[in-house]
Amino acid sequence: MTEAYIGLGSNQGNRHQNLQHAIRALDERVQVLDRSAIYRTKAWGLEDQPDFFNQVLQVQTEMTPEGLLEVTQEIEHKLGRRREIRWGPRTIDLDILMYGELIQHGESLRIPHAGIPDRNFVLTGMMDLAPNLRHPVLGKTIRELYLQCLDTLDVLLIES
Ligand code: AMP
Repeated sequence: MTEAYIGLGSNQGNRHQNLQHAIRALDERVQVLDRSAIYRTKAWGLEDQPDFFNQVLQVQTEMTPEGLLEVTQEIEHKLGRRREIRWGPRTIDLDILMYGELIQHGESLRIPHAGIPDRNFVLTGMMDLAPNLRHPVLGKTIRELYLQCLDTLDVLLIES
């Protein structure tokens, strides 16, 4: 069994419901151990689009990382995600943030997720779940990365 962290984001349609549907779908395939609060954040990268609702889940699974990626992509498709513009609006985006202590720099799968140290909403969600978890590449805890993060976009708590 491996403990993994999955980041969820939605900025199209009923964002709250999209998060709920994704969690329900994930819960059928992995064991969802805990979830962060839901945060509202400005879109990162391309700013002229609706705000995101973001949440992080702590899960436990026997699946390989590739198997987990297949599951998250299947759920993205099922919930109607359209990938037209890079960083553009999306019904649901699922990112594998961490997978145990694994370090993998593959073409289609990079773990830990490259965005962790730069994105305040990811670190804020992970702070709810595992502030003492150590990033296996950077050698710093989530709390240290959170305090050092230079991302200034607002992360507003909307539901704890
Ligand atoms: P995005 O548009 O940001 O959701 O990126 C999707 C692509 O990122 C997919 O084709 C994945 O193969 C790739 N990818 C690489 N690493 C990860 C990861 N840790 N979690 C999810 N997708 C990943």
